[in-house]
Amino acid sequence: MTQPLTDLQLALAERIDAVLPQTQCRQCDYPDCRAYAEAIASGAARINQCPPGGDVGVARLADITGQPVVALNPQHGAPKPFALAVIDEAVCIGCTLCIQACPVDAIIGAAKQMHVVIASECTGCELCIAPCPVDCISMQPAAKPDVAAQWRARHEFRRLRLVREKEARSERLALKAQAKLDDPHFAAADKQAKIRAALEKSQARQAQPAPLQDEAALKRAKIAAAMERAAALRAGRDSGKE
Ligand code: SF4
Ligand code: SF4
Ligand code: SF4
Repeated sequence: MTQPLTDLQLALAERIDAVLPQTQCRQCDYPDCRAYAEAIASGAARINQCPPGGDVGVARLADITGQPVVALNPQHGAPKPFALAVIDEAVCIGCTLCIQACPVDAIIGAAKQMHVVIASECTGCELCIAPCPVDCISMQPAAKPDVAAQWRARHEFRRLRLVREKEARSERLALKAQAKLDDPHFAAADKQAKIRAALEKSQARQAQPAPLQDEAALKRAKIAAAMERAAALRAGRDSGKE
């Protein structure tokens, strides 16, 4: 189990996080910029794992931590020019997988409706690209905005939203189960035991850290037919351009 950070390490993590790009892209192998900052502060990570920060970022981290400047570790990727995600609305099948992947809630849309990226909020992290089953998201070069603090705030807001939603789900399930237990039709001891077991199971499931993968797999299976339609549509459009 990871040791909690000391007050000194937490203060150092604050200073480190303040100079990280806040792209929230996970290329450093940590779930977000804050987690990487804490890993550096605790000595678990090196200062050269953030491609969006580039060499300038490494120099800043070296300055803050007192460590020597080192080259970026190519295992984490190379720095790239900034680019924004753009969704081809004609091909989008509204599966919502990109929304689930976006670390800053920069994509709007609903199930079975086309999705759109809010350009002013996109960090260019590319995390929405891989989950899209119809490859309709591309990265378009853009001027990099100076809004790291805004990206950090949006990411934190999303994190808190996910925690709230998880708690609300657990609460709904608990209330539902309690209502069953209170129902005279379910008063028999064996039925009550079954409901209690189901309640415990569902609470254990809620405690799982990442149900996203399973949900994503299920959704991908459901939209297999839609993928074929989208590919055919794209092929038709490409041949029309020739
Ligand atoms: S910008 Fe990406 S690679 Fe850099 S610290 Fe943040 S999450 Fe890690
Ligand atoms: S829209 Fe895509 S590239 Fe932009 S922040 Fe969200 S996941 Fe990252
Ligand atoms: S993942 Fe792709 S197909 Fe699914 S909603 Fe997002 S853009 Fe549309």
